[in-house]
Amino acid sequence: MTFVVTEKCIKCKYTDCVEVCPVDCFYEGPNFLVINPDECIDCALCEPECPIEAIYSEDELPQDQKEFLALNAQLSQQWPNITEVKPALDDADAWREVTEKRHLLEK
Ligand code: SF4
Ligand code: SF4
Repeated sequence: MTFVVTEKCIKCKYTDCVEVCPVDCFYEGPNFLVINPDECIDCALCEPECPIEAIYSEDELPQDQKEFLALNAQLSQQWPNITEVKPALDDADAWREVTEKRHLLEK
C-alpha cells in the first residue's frame, strides 16, 4: 500500500510532508508533489503533517481523487527527488482552499 498526494496540494506545495518521510520518497514538480508508490513504506507519518490534508492512504482516497493514484506513480518517475523543506509557493495561501484545480497541474 502507498500514500497519495491529491489535488489540494496543487499550487500550494507546503512541503512539510517531505521532512518527516523516513525513506525520502517525495518527488517535486513545478506546482505539485507526488509520492513514489514503490518506495513508500506506508508509515503514515506524512499524512498529519500536511497543513491542508492533501495526503491520503491509498485505501482511503476519496472517489473524486482516485486518478491521483496513477498520477503519483507516473510523475514520481519523471520528477526529481525532494528531501528538504522549502518555502511554499508565493500564492499558496490563496490556493489552499480551492478544491477544483487539477486542470492547473503542471507536468
Ligand atoms: S505538505 Fe501537503 S501541500 Fe505541502 S507538499 Fe506535502 S502534500 Fe503538498
Ligand atoms: S507514508 Fe511514510 S513512507 Fe510513505 S510517503 Fe508518507 S512519510 Fe513517506
